[in-house]
Amino acid sequence: MNCEIVKDLLPLYIDKCCSAESSAEIEKHLKKCDDCKIILGTMKTDLVSEKDLATPVTPIKPINYLKASLLQTSLLFVSFALITLGVYLEAKTPSGWTNSNYAFSLVVPFAGFMLSLANWHFIRLYNSKKAFSKYSCLITLLIIVLLGLWTGFYYDFSIFDFVKMMFDAGLKDTAEAALFFSSSYIIGLIITPILCLASKLFSAKYADFLGKE
Ligand SMILES: [Zn+2]
Repeated sequence: MNCEIVKDLLPLYIDKCCSAESSAEIEKHLKKCDDCKIILGTMKTDLVSEKDLATPVTPIKPINYLKASLLQTSLLFVSFALITLGVYLEAKTPSGWTNSNYAFSLVVPFAGFMLSLANWHFIRLYNSKKAFSKYSCLITLLIIVLLGLWTGFYYDFSIFDFVKMMFDAGLKDTAEAALFFSSSYIIGLIITPILCLASKLFSAKYADFLGKE
């Protein structure tokens, strides 16, 4: 058997599709021909790497797409409901020192959280689940801070005016004002890190559903 014939038969030999007679002939040739032995080695390596490439990626079950979508929709809905509640309560608040209470405690944090959900559509751009959840958390914080600053300008919020108002008002009113005013700000300050953490956890869950490693 010459080299050309052996080369032609090698793929069949590797796949064990040769007759016993041909296999024996090929093996006999390979023992004395280094060129063909090298070619056999190369062909085997190529086959292995082709198999590696063909390893199927575990497909995402349709139910998991549904779960991911439901998670995002629920969060969107809850945020929207709380923003609406905040806007409603804020609109009912008479102008004066109580103005902007609900804007800071409800509208701003949940609007920031809701807007940060848009980032979830870009999950493919992140190279890992960890990076995705970390940036989701940071984006939530960034949007809440920006919205908070904008709301502060909108309401012309000034701590000095507030202190002046406290002095102008009677002691009883001041105590009430201080209590109401500070508590709603504190709520906003407490809700913000909670929402950032929620953003981190829920985005990781979302990534899990979509099979992101
Ligand atoms: Zn040969």
